[in-house]
This record gives sequence, C-alpha cells and structure tokens, in this order.
Amino acid sequence: APQGPAAELVAQGRAVHVAADVLDAAALAAALAPHLGAGPLVLVHGAGVLADGPLGGVDPARGALALRVKVEGWRHSLAALGRRPRAAVAMGSWAGRFGNRHQAWYAAGNALLSALAEQDGAACAEFGPWTDSEMVAGIPAAVQGAMRAEGIDFVGTQAGLDALLAALATPGAHVVGRDLPWTTRAVRWTETLSVDTHPFLLDHAIEGVPVLPLASATDLLARAALPPGQAPPFEVLDLRLFQGVTVREPVTIELSARGERAELRQGERRALAYKARVRPLADLPAVPSPAQGGQAPSLSLAEFYGGLTFHGPLLQGIRSIDGVGDDFVRGVVATGRPEAWIPDAPFSRWTVDPLALDSAMQLSAHVAWTRFHRAGTPIGFRRLVQLAPLPAGTLRAEVWTGQAEGDRFTGTIVLRDEAGAPLLLAEEVAAELREITGVGESAGYTAKPAQVDFAAWPEIQALSDRLEAAAAIGVKNPYFRVHEGTARNVSTVEGRELVNYSSYNYVGLSGDPRVLARVEEAIHRYGTSVSASRVASGERPFHGQLEQALARCQGTEDAILYTAGHATNMGTIGHLMRPTDLVLHDELIHDSILQGIKLSGAVRRGFKHDDVGDLERQLRTLRPHYDRCLIVAEGVYSMDGDLCDLPGLLSAKERHGALLMIDEAHSFGVVGATGQGVREHFGIDGRRVDVWMGTLSKSLASCGGWIAGRKELVRYLKYTSPGFVYSAGLTPANGMAALASLELMLEEPWRVTQLQDNARFFHDELTRRGLDTGPAHGESGVVPVITGNSVHALWLSQRLNEQGVNVQPIVYPAVADDAARLRFFLSSTHTTGQLEWTARVVAETLAQVRADFPL
Ligand code: PMP
Repeated sequence: APQGPAAELVAQGRAVHVAADVLDAAALAAALAPHLGAGPLVLVHGAGVLADGPLGGVDPARGALALRVKVEGWRHSLAALGRRPRAAVAMGSWAGRFGNRHQAWYAAGNALLSALAEQDGAACAEFGPWTDSEMVAGIPAAVQGAMRAEGIDFVGTQAGLDALLAALATPGAHVVGRDLPWTTRAVRWTETLSVDTHPFLLDHAIEGVPVLPLASATDLLARAALPPGQAPPFEVLDLRLFQGVTVREPVTIELSARGERAELRQGERRALAYKARVRPLADLPAVPSPAQGGQAPSLSLAEFYGGLTFHGPLLQGIRSIDGVGDDFVRGVVATGRPEAWIPDAPFSRWTVDPLALDSAMQLSAHVAWTRFHRAGTPIGFRRLVQLAPLPAGTLRAEVWTGQAEGDRFTGTIVLRDEAGAPLLLAEEVAAELREITGVGESAGYTAKPAQVDFAAWPEIQALSDRLEAAAAIGVKNPYFRVHEGTARNVSTVEGRELVNYSSYNYVGLSGDPRVLARVEEAIHRYGTSVSASRVASGERPFHGQLEQALARCQGTEDAILYTAGHATNMGTIGHLMRPTDLVLHDELIHDSILQGIKLSGAVRRGFKHDDVGDLERQLRTLRPHYDRCLIVAEGVYSMDGDLCDLPGLLSAKERHGALLMIDEAHSFGVVGATGQGVREHFGIDGRRVDVWMGTLSKSLASCGGWIAGRKELVRYLKYTSPGFVYSAGLTPANGMAALASLELMLEEPWRVTQLQDNARFFHDELTRRGLDTGPAHGESGVVPVITGNSVHALWLSQRLNEQGVNVQPIVYPAVADDAARLRFFLSSTHTTGQLEWTARVVAETLAQVRADFPL
C-alpha cells in the first residue's frame, strides 16, 4: 500500500498506485502499461532506499542500491511511460545538494538524479526529509532532534504536496527546494583580548584577575553564528562555560560557527571556553507577566557594589533595585554602547548587549547574597531569546529565582522596555554559588567557617550510614581486613590462618621464590623507582621485555604498560574516544571502563549482558549517527565468572565498522590451554580485536595494567596518553614481578590446568550441595555463591571467617539485593581437600544463617 503523501494523492483519486521494482525495466513497463491510457501523463519518481553509515562501514552493494534506485529508477520510469509526460518531477534530496555526513551513497545518488532530471527537462525536488515517511520513522527521535537543530528542513505532508504540485505545474527543467540549511554557513576568526584594547576587562576582575564576562561571550557567540545583519528575534541555546577566559596578559580567542553551533576557544592550544547554539527564533517563548510590588532590598545597591561584587564602574549597570519578592527581584538596568567598552570596536551595536545582560545577572547575584549568603557567578543558560533590539538608555529587569540545589542556582531573566513589553528573555540561567570568606560581614552576614566540614556532605553521610547499618545487624566490618603475609590458598588475618578465597593469585605466582629472586635482583640493579616518566628518563629494559612478551601472548604487534589496571582502562578509553563517538558496553562492565567513557565524553549505551543480539540491534540504529564506535566487553566477568561470546562480538564489530576492546583482567592466566586468555580459548587471531587490555595485578602477581594492539595505536598511546606520559614508569619491582610471573606461567602450564580443574571441582562440589552458583559452570577462576539477600551474605561471610574461610561478601548497592553473594576467587594453590571441605562448610553455614535470619 502507498504510504504518507502518496497515500493522500491516491485517496484523492489523483494518482494510481502500482507496486513494481524500478530497477527491473521490463517488469516496471509491464506493470504500468495497463494504466497509461492515451491522456497526458505525470511522473513523480519518489523511490528511495537508505544506506546510511560511515563510508567504510556501508556494504558497497547496499550503497550502490541506494544510488541505483535513484538513477536507474528514473531512467526506467521515464522509459516505461513510452511517451513524454506532460510533467515530471524527480524526488531528489537536500542531501544530494548539500551533502550529509554518513549519507555518501544516498547523496551521490540524489545529486546524479538532479543532473539527469535537468538533462531530461524535468523538475527535481530537493527537499529535506518528509516527516511522516517511513524513512523518517526509522530515524531515532534524538537524532531527528539533532538534525533539526542543524537546520535541516523537515517537510510536513501538506507543505510538501503543495511544493510538489507547484513543481509539476512549472514546465521545463528546474530545481525546487525549500529553506537553505543553516549548516552551509561557516565562519572563523581570531582576535586578541587585552586590558589595553578591551579596558572593560579591568572592571570585571575576579580576585584581581580580569575575566571575560559570560555576557560578553554570549554576544561574541551570537555575532559569530548569526548571518551578518540578522536582526532579532533570534535565540541562543544551551550556552555553557567550559573554562573561563582570564586575561592576565593578552590572550588570543578564536570564534567559530558552523551552522548554528558556535564555539569560543582560547590560547595557543585553542582550549574550549564556551559553546552554544544560535539561530533565528523557532518558537515564541512564554514570558512571565511583569513582577509587581515586593519589599525594599535588605542589601542596598551601594552596599552591594561597595564590596560584595567584583564589578568596577563600567560594569555597574544596575540603576535601582525596586522590589524583592519571594521568587523575584526587579529593578532597572542600563544598556551599553560598544565604544564605551572597546574603544576601537569595529561594530557600533552589540548583538546581545553584555552590559544589560550582565547587570541582570548581577541582580541574581544580589539574590544569591541576600538569600543564600553566597556569591553567585553565572556558568550558562538553557535559552536566551532576544525578541527585539534593545534601545539605548535603561530597561526594566526582573529575575525570577528558582531553588538552589547544592552549589547550583537557576533563574529566569526578563528585560522589558518602559511600557513593559518583553525584549529579552533568558531561561534557566545557571549560577555557581561560591563562598567568599571575609567579605560580607560588614553587611551583617556571617562568613562561612574557613574549614569545610566534610562530615556534613551528604555523600559522606551516606557512607557512614551504610557502614553503621552493617554494624547495626551485628556483623564486623568485612573491609580493609589486614592480611599479615602472602595471600595464597591460605592467608593469615589477625593472627589466624584462613583458607583464602579473596585474592587474585590465580596461578600462585605471588610469593613464588623464583619471582622474589628476580625482583630482588631487579631492585638491586635499578633501584626501587624508575624516578621519571618513561618518555623522559624512566625507560628500563624490563619495560620493553614485558611489553613484547604480552604482545606475543595476544598475537598483536605491540603493547604498553600502565601503573594500574584501573588507570589503563580509564586513560585509554578516555583518550581514544571523543564526544562525537559511541561506546557500547556489556551492562556488567567494570567501573574502570565506565569512568573512561565518562572522561571521553562519548555517548554511552549498555547492551544486555552477553547478548550479541541486543548489541546488534543497537548498532543498527545508533552506529550510523556517530563517528567512531567502540564495543567493550570482558573476557571473563568477575561477578559471575562467565565468559564473553567473543566470536559473536567479533562478527558484530566487523559488520558495523566498530572497534572491539576486550578486558582480560580475569581471563589472562585463567582461560585458554596455556592461560593466554579468551583469544587462546576461542582460537582466534589476536589481530581481530582492536584493543586488548589486561592487568598485572591478578595472574601476573604484580600491580599495573597493559594494552596490546596494533603498533600505531601503541605508539600513539606512548607519546600522548596522559596517564602514561605524565606519570612515572612502572617500578622495577612491579615490572620484574610481572615479567618473571609471565615467563613461569608459560613454562609451567600445569598451573593453569590446576586452576581450571580446581574451579570446576569447586563449582561441582557446591552445586552438588544445592547451592546457587549463578550462570557459569566453573569455567573461570571466579565462582559465586548467591545468597539472594545482603544480610545473609554478610552473615555467611562472617561465620565462614569464624570457621577459617576468608571470602568477601558482595552486597547491595554493589549488586541488586537478590543478587547478593559471596565471591570465591580460586587459585591453582588450593588443594582438593580445602575445596571439598569449604563447599561442605558453606552449604551447612548458609542453611544455618537462613534458619537464624528468616526473611
Ligand atoms: N578490569 C577489570 C574487569 C577488573 O576486574 C579490574 C580490577 N578488579 C580492573 C580492570 C582494574 O585492575 P587493577 O585492579 O589491576 O587496577
């Protein structure tokens, strides 16, 4: 059945609907023939298929199809008519005219179609997407929003049909479009700010340092993004301060705008200072009715400007404060002239008057003082609408104040003319509240104490409550217990030797005398520190040797060491991914990976645990809209001890042109015939995974982390990743412990076999006794016992400890309450006797705990 606009034409009896494949000339002609009659014909070629995605990631056959449907479809349709139509329109696309990221094939097809239509004397319609078409239905709402924000002209059915009918009525070759997308405009310029050329900065000095006011940045961003001569109404959206522009000495700023996105960068490194979107006004805002009445201010203007703000004479734009209500303050502010602030200004009008705007913000700073007894400095706003030019002289100003939340405080600013007509509205203006100690006592306010009381912070309070809750149910704090020797199959805690299941000494190499001897030799030769970053003077032979050995294990070209596993994930992802990228991760992924994604600013989405189908679904809808895409999974998941589906992840990543990163923290030294991780376990070529990550702190009996991959990736990380370049190199003790352990692990593969046998044996002993060990079957070094309840987990851990078993509980909020558990880390050093005995004691004790603490 026809869809969207075509359906309407058919319903109105103005068109016949025939379904046929436009790529099959003969079938198309045969399908149309019975309907052609002898009268005049009109052709609208509207067929199209999408093949969106980065050029390298789109299947070329699919891409060619998108192109052929447009081009061959047009030729075949014209031919199928058998005679010249009275009118013909080729439905091209705005993407064909202006190009569009991730639509190379589609854009090329449409560009070609336009050219053909012109040759054939027909019209070509180059519209944006039709809102109620199937194509648009397939674009996620958030992406549609982003496209609209870029200025892409979405066409409604009626408007589209009107334009189409007009095109049909116009004879000859021509192109019909609608609005020019904003994205075609791009500007960039730099200028130097100094207190000599911009003397107003001296009157905006915070703690003595001149700072560009946020209101000035607003004017600059609006000036950059608006076409020259664009008059109000316009709007500035989502203005954000990233880094203040301080002008201790002359500083170069760069203003740039592409479409409606504007940025202000500063300094030699072009650090991002401000960002906003600017465009002609889309929807009229709702303006609050004028504030009336209010009390006289408790803090006079003279007191306010006399010591409570840092604004000097040029910026003191509040003329009067006329009323303070429960949720507003109203007054009068001055508008400014550029030449008063910047003597040689090359323009004679502000785009957004910074004096009027800053003065209105000062009114909200006045509220911050009188209500919260703190200084407020603006850090951004959601939307500023300038409805009309601001007249010279003064304006009525009001600030509607919201509540303070933590250190944030938001308000709405309205500037009106004498008659009360709104001229400028700024919504959700956010300010940061800051303490200014010592200032304000003269005005009757008590300064805040010089020492911050951490105990009063809500997050610190929450931790105290959590720890007290454990004490309240009678269990001892299970955290930070001191182990007095080497943690192997047994460990000494508070003078008692316990069978130990809470250490990652998977293959028993921590404490191995041969490892100790190599470490001793290394510290005698190299000292206890390499005393510098490796890039500078910290490079030692064992660094490269260990990296080469790890790269060999992974089947990759090279590897790089970091001084902690957590920092390895955080630093690598944080450094490689960017805000225009997408990271898809297993929902049970480790914290270090989540922190890295946060640091990178990339868009983050979790997929269902070990569910490649869910990953595929997300890749299909999201992948085309991002530059780079990284998929992150763990070889072995440390909560349940289950393995990832590496073959499934590989085929998903290869199909969608994504990167794959595998964290081998709990699989290296654990799975695979000789402990070389999931690569060995699944028998795949290590080069197919883009980023391998592992730690030195588990099987390798040390502390640190590594990344293995292609040589250009490793070289890039070695020269630029901050956690490597700006941090001291791995210590001789840690480097040699890991190198010696890796060599021994490979020379003595019985260790890995023993660990694998132990894990399976322990798992079977537990399940034989009816215990819930989760989804895995002892295929890794982690075996959980799920109690299904945090209180039971805490008690079970404590009572096992009393009987000589050391195992950590994992309770809410680390896991959901019904997933609360004890987590057993196995080691090759455990004996069958220890494992059999432990399984029996766990089963008996859990039964006892459940009887003693019924739910
Ligand atoms: N990744 C995973 C999956 C982990 O479990 C851990 C720590 N347990 C890390 C990374 C961090 O490693 P490290 O403890 O060596 O910093």
